[in-house]
Amino acid sequence: MKKFYARLFSVIIATVMAFVPVRSLAAKSADVGGADYKTCKNVIFMIGDGMGFNSINKTKLETGIKTINMDLFPMNGESKTRSADNEVTDSAAGGTALSSAVRTNNSYVGVYSDDKYALESHPMNLAELAVAQGKKSGVITTDLTSGATPASFSAHTSSRTNELDITAQQLSSDLDLIWGEKTASFDETTAKANGFDVFYDKAGMEALSEGSRSFGQFTSSVWQQTPAENMPTMEEMTRKAIDLLDDDEDGFFLMVEGAHIDKNSHSNKGEGMEDALLAFDKAIGVALEYAKTRGDTLVLVTADHETGGLTLNGEGVYEYTTDYHTGVNVPLLVYGSEGFINDGEKIDNKEVSRRVACVMGENNFPLKVEGAVKHTGVVGIEFEEKEYSLRYRSSITLSPNVIAGEGAEYSVTYLSSKTSRATVDENGTVTSVKQSNLDRGSAVILITVTDSYGRSNETACKVNIEFAWWQWIVKIALFGWLWY
Ligand SMILES: [Zn+2]
Repeated sequence: MKKFYARLFSVIIATVMAFVPVRSLAAKSADVGGADYKTCKNVIFMIGDGMGFNSINKTKLETGIKTINMDLFPMNGESKTRSADNEVTDSAAGGTALSSAVRTNNSYVGVYSDDKYALESHPMNLAELAVAQGKKSGVITTDLTSGATPASFSAHTSSRTNELDITAQQLSSDLDLIWGEKTASFDETTAKANGFDVFYDKAGMEALSEGSRSFGQFTSSVWQQTPAENMPTMEEMTRKAIDLLDDDEDGFFLMVEGAHIDKNSHSNKGEGMEDALLAFDKAIGVALEYAKTRGDTLVLVTADHETGGLTLNGEGVYEYTTDYHTGVNVPLLVYGSEGFINDGEKIDNKEVSRRVACVMGENNFPLKVEGAVKHTGVVGIEFEEKEYSLRYRSSITLSPNVIAGEGAEYSVTYLSSKTSRATVDENGTVTSVKQSNLDRGSAVILITVTDSYGRSNETACKVNIEFAWWQWIVKIALFGWLWY
């Protein structure tokens, strides 16, 4: 019998019913056009993960290519990147700002910062907005399909590491296509049962027919200009995706992510970054070429954040200065909706998606979707308190809430951390703490939950030891001050 009470998360909603505007756009100003943007039937939203201005500059300098497709945009501005809890955003919070027009905490995906498990509500993303408008909608990436950026346009979960939850939400989504590198949490049977054609290589992609919905799981990498054998280029993926989506009279929304600009910059691999950036740029060329023949398509290129802190040094060479993200502004390039940004205008990352929604005819974005999100597997564990107090020679039972999907069975393991000297039994009761550690304060207790899907999740809390006044007297009388 377990003493802790775990709150099994119950699922209430199946579909989205009512959209409640979070804020009104009534206040119009000169630089925030709101309803004044030229609307477009189609939107192609392209994200170069980790792509800063100097990623582009370095690529052009090193390769000697004077003009790339990103130079051909009529509107050029900047997106100001940060997350709700950090000056430097990660791809989950960055992706959420770009998909849903809200800033959330790093590692959160498509959820509000004060409701990370989406127990009450969540923000709608642009791909879902497209579906609600009767448009076709798709997400393609060179990352895993469960990666933070595609997830921000197709899932709502407390952490980018909740792969199982992300993939399950994608599989039950109304998106028409979700393509990327194969993720371990993918299940072909479920995908087919939910109406997706499943393919694993270039031939499978090319064989897709119009009117089909598809889940692409490329078994090798697809990010280079010359991809792995039997794999498509980003350019080919983008062309095929547009081809499949543009048969709907209501239009389409397509998110295209070039993920390896970021990944190569994390490991400071300049040449790999350049290769990834040029592969992404070729995909941009496909989108531009399509939009130019039509006049009803917005093409937008930006990044979630810069990676690597690329700086031009005194010798005229671009150097990496970090292996992580930075907080600098990133490029914002727009084609197809005049007035989207003024030349050189700097706007918040979340403002980018709000304006895209306006171009899609939705002036009340961001939109709040009421109701709980259905999760799969354990998506979180939380203690009521971050710190507990334990009276000396008494015991305390920790009571974590486990946030898990319906039907997910799970087991809980308690551990004292290396530094603590606490004893915790299987029910989470802290029964003893070694005396030598008592007056110096605290023990850290780790809890690990493993569910029936094999997924583990972990969190920690702190237990502080307190003495009653008489315990101090006894302690001093027995051992004296020198005891410690
Ligand atoms: Zn990154």
